[in-house]
Amino acid sequence: MRIAIAGISHETNSYCQANTFVDDFYQLRGDKFLATFNQESDIGGAVAACHRMDVTPVPILFVSAQPSGIIDHGTYQRFKSEIIEGLAAATDIDGVVLCLHGAGVVDGIEDLEGDLCRSVREVFGAGFPITASFDLHGNITQSMADALDGMFACHHYPHIDLHERAAEAVELAVRIRRESLTTATWVTTVPMLLPTTTTFIDPGKRRLRMMLEAEQEAGVIDVSWFHGFPYTDVGHIGCYIVVTTEGDAAQARRIGTRLAHGLWADRELFRPDSLSAADAVTAAMQASRPSTGAAAPIVIHETSDNCGGGAPGDGTHLLRAMLDAEMPNACFGFIVDAETAGQAHSAGVGARINIRLGGKTDDLHGDSLILDAYVKALHDGRITLQAMFRGAPLNLGPMARLQPVDSDMDIIVVSRRSQTFDAEPFLALGMDVLRYRYVALKSSNHFRAGFQDLAAQIITADPPGLTTHHIEVFPRQRTSQPLWPIDDRAEFNP
Ligand SMILES: [Zn+2]
Repeated sequence: MRIAIAGISHETNSYCQANTFVDDFYQLRGDKFLATFNQESDIGGAVAACHRMDVTPVPILFVSAQPSGIIDHGTYQRFKSEIIEGLAAATDIDGVVLCLHGAGVVDGIEDLEGDLCRSVREVFGAGFPITASFDLHGNITQSMADALDGMFACHHYPHIDLHERAAEAVELAVRIRRESLTTATWVTTVPMLLPTTTTFIDPGKRRLRMMLEAEQEAGVIDVSWFHGFPYTDVGHIGCYIVVTTEGDAAQARRIGTRLAHGLWADRELFRPDSLSAADAVTAAMQASRPSTGAAAPIVIHETSDNCGGGAPGDGTHLLRAMLDAEMPNACFGFIVDAETAGQAHSAGVGARINIRLGGKTDDLHGDSLILDAYVKALHDGRITLQAMFRGAPLNLGPMARLQPVDSDMDIIVVSRRSQTFDAEPFLALGMDVLRYRYVALKSSNHFRAGFQDLAAQIITADPPGLTTHHIEVFPRQRTSQPLWPIDDRAEFNP
C-alpha cells in the first residue's frame, strides 16, 4: 500500500503588519521529507506510521513557516499547485494524508485548509481515503471536514502529540482502504475566543479528559477539540469540537453538541489572569522558593510576545521591567534581534559593546533598550529540540549571551524568530537554568513541555503585544457575531 503525504502548515496572525512569502517557508521534498521519521512532528509521525504499518510513504511537498502575517496569494498558489500536480502524478497511491495547521489565511482566501482540502478531493473524487492532522489552534469549517474522511487535531497544548495524531490520520486512511469504511465528521462551532489555554493543568486538562472519554463510545473514531486561533480576523472564528464516526453523522453531531455545551457552560473558568510586566516581576520577587531547597527557578513567560502566535519576539516590556527592578540572579532567554546578535559576534567574547536591543519591529512591543553589555558567549544557534518537537532541528541563527555592565543578568539574543521551547538555547551558551533564581522567556504555553517539571512556579506576564490575552483589543471586520469573552451578548445556540 502507498500513502501520499503533503501539507501546507501556517498559523496566520492577520494582525501582523507584514505578509508571508515563499522564502519564509521551509520546504521538504523527497529524501529530506522522509528523513523526518524520527522527529516528533506531524510530518515525522506520518512517515514513521507508514513504516510501522508496512505502508510506503510517498512524499509530495510539505511547507511550514513561523506564525506570521497573511500569506501572499502567489506564494500559496505556487505551493498548492505543486501539491495538486504532485498528487495527480503520483501513481498507484491508495490514500492521501495531509499535515495541516488549520489557521492558514491567504490574501483573498480566508480558509486555506478548506480550499486545499477541496482541491485535493477534486483530484480523487468521493470514496478515496483522504485524512488530515491539524494543530489544535486551527479555525475549522464544515466545508473542510466535508472534503476529508477524518480530522485529527493534536490533543495537547504544548503540542507534544503532533506525531501521534498524524499517525492516527495514516491509520485511518489505511483502514478506510482496507475495510471500505465510510466516515462522518461533524464540526460544532462555539462562539468563544479561547485564550491560549494549556492542557497540562486545569481547566484545560479536565476539559480534554472529557473529550477523550467521549471517544470511548462505540462507533466513534475521534474527538478533536480545536481551541481555535483568536489572533486572526476570519468569519469562521471560534472554538470547535470535531467528531468523526464510522459513518453515523447523527452520532457525531450529538456528541459534538453535548461537548460544546459543556465547554460553553465552563467558559468563565478559561478567563485568564493577566499581569503587567511590572506586576509579574513583583510577583516573582515576592514568591518564595520551595522549602525543599531544590534548585528550582521561578519562570516568567511573556505570553504577549510569542513568535509562536505571530508576535515579533523583539518586545522589551518584560526585560525592561526586570532590569528596572534590578532582579538578582536572573536570565532572559531569549529576545530576537539579528542586528545585536551580529554586533556581538563581530565584537567577540569578552568585548564590551553598546547596544540598542529589541523594540525594532513596531511600536506595540516596547522601545529599544540602550545598554552597555559584555559579550559572555556566542553560538551559531543550531540546536536540536528536546521537549516539544523532540528530535527536530531549530535554527535560531547567530546567538549571543550578553550581560549588562551594571547587572548580573544574562540575556540571550538570537537572530531568527522563534519562541522558547526548552532549555537547549541556554545550554548552548553555557547556562544551566537551574542555577538561576528567575528565568524569563517568550512563549504562551509550548515552553511548558520543557520547563513545567523544573520550575518552582510559573508566572504569566501579559504586557501589550500581538499575542496578548486581552483579545478585545483586536478589531474584527470579518464577523459580527457576538463572541465570548469580548461581548456579553454572546450566546451558544447550535
Ligand atoms: Zn498550536
